[in-house]
Amino acid sequence: MHYINGIWVNAGGQEFASVNPATGAEIYRGKSATDVEIRQAVAAARAAFPAWAALDYEDRLKIVHKFKDTVEAKKEELATLIAQETGKALWDARSEVAAVIAKLTYASEAYAERTGTKTRTSPVGNAVVRHYPHGVMAVYGPYNFPAHLPNGHIQPALLAGNTIVFKPSEQTPKVAEWTVKQWDAAGLPKGVLNLVQGERDTGIALANAEIDGLLFTGSSATGKALHKQFGGRPEIILALEMGGNNPLIVYDIKDIPAAVHETLLSAFTGTGQRCTCARRLMVVDWPGAKSYIDSLIKSAANLKIGAYDETPEPFMGPLISVREADRILAAQESLEKMGGKVLLRAKKLRDGLPFVSPAIIDMTGVKNVPDEEYFGPLLQLYREPDIEKALERANCTKFGLSASVFCDNPAVFQQLKPRIKAGLVNYNRQTTGASGAGPFGGLGISGNHRPAGYYSADYCAYPVASVEVEHLKLPEKLPPGMKIES
Ligand code: NAD
Repeated sequence: MHYINGIWVNAGGQEFASVNPATGAEIYRGKSATDVEIRQAVAAARAAFPAWAALDYEDRLKIVHKFKDTVEAKKEELATLIAQETGKALWDARSEVAAVIAKLTYASEAYAERTGTKTRTSPVGNAVVRHYPHGVMAVYGPYNFPAHLPNGHIQPALLAGNTIVFKPSEQTPKVAEWTVKQWDAAGLPKGVLNLVQGERDTGIALANAEIDGLLFTGSSATGKALHKQFGGRPEIILALEMGGNNPLIVYDIKDIPAAVHETLLSAFTGTGQRCTCARRLMVVDWPGAKSYIDSLIKSAANLKIGAYDETPEPFMGPLISVREADRILAAQESLEKMGGKVLLRAKKLRDGLPFVSPAIIDMTGVKNVPDEEYFGPLLQLYREPDIEKALERANCTKFGLSASVFCDNPAVFQQLKPRIKAGLVNYNRQTTGASGAGPFGGLGISGNHRPAGYYSADYCAYPVASVEVEHLKLPEKLPPGMKIES
């Protein structure tokens, strides 16, 4: 269902459905919004904008608080729905819900700190900086965090006074519908948040509509297509949060089980379907390197994979679809053909369903490895002779989202941290699970320098600088060549 101007609407074009990837059972069936619904949604958001923007910030904040309280009261319902529609393990889905709930604290702090009003007195008057909302923002979400990531744009955009047309992933429409129902229950005025469900064509059509901004989280391929589509339209604010080919450097660690634990979390959380997942592991030569790699392979082979409601609870679930599972297996095959040595082979685990076990492939010495994001449980290993070679390999990518260094010697991190090309650079900590208190975005083709997370406030409002003087007063000294005649 679409939600347009406060009304749930069933009209639309092409039919599409989402399924529980763990069972294949249908979860949602609906129709993609057509140009007509998209135009209506944008018009509703446009009509609602002046009143929403003029509302006191405190009144907008109250509604966002109510949304947060509603989600908190129903957090288990949302976690279960996320687990069903994405296939995520329940512990993982619960952490997504916790991020939705925590967002308001960060978003309201960021609103005040990054976009508040600032006044500086000067001899020529008060220099004031104020921030204003852009207008109608389109928000696009990916399937892997169907509640948290759209929410990461929606809450700051609403707090700043924008109105929204939300286009969720076609693979997770049910979670989107659920969250919009909670916004409705929180008392958001009609037209302030609109939902248009649909596939790629709906995304293209919404980007072509009369919007003032587009806040996107998804793949680099789609982000690039949108960037092209907006070429020559500098007046549209475009925030792109995209994929990564993220490096993890490991060197000289005493606590090998701890390093293996953080590596598993980095590479395989969410079945490798997190943008921040480690994709390339650089192990620098040290006496413990072999024990670390052996333990990693055995521990990855032991990870429990299953549906969210199986007992004992799995570490990870299926991939989102059979198509994505096939894509990971095809990537494994192609890396092996190039000369990669499969240390742990990914396999399909259940007939007709996208359960895939993790892969670890030693790509040391293989030339021309594609610089691609394999969005699943596939980790490439590179054995490096020294730190500098590991850094060179880490930076040998056009992406730049996240990276981690595991090493007992802080001097190594000191040496690496300013030189790793990524927006998130962790030390002795998994590449995944970023803090909401920091900016979240990447360099290269991972983003367009408009990071989300704590910095979302920046792209949700534009600054206006004013010099203000209470009364006009003729100066005692006029510029040369000027005389005021009465
Ligand atoms: P996707 O790019 O396929 O889809 C994202 C959204 O864009 C969906 O709503 C989709 O319908 C829409 N879309 C697809 N093609 C479009 C087009 N040509 N024009 C307009 N809209 C279009 O991404 P996905 O597969 O849902 O999500 C996985 C990807 O998202 C991975 O690459 C992952 O790294 C990335 N991701 C990035 C972040 C981040 O914050 N940097 C976070 C999570 C996921």
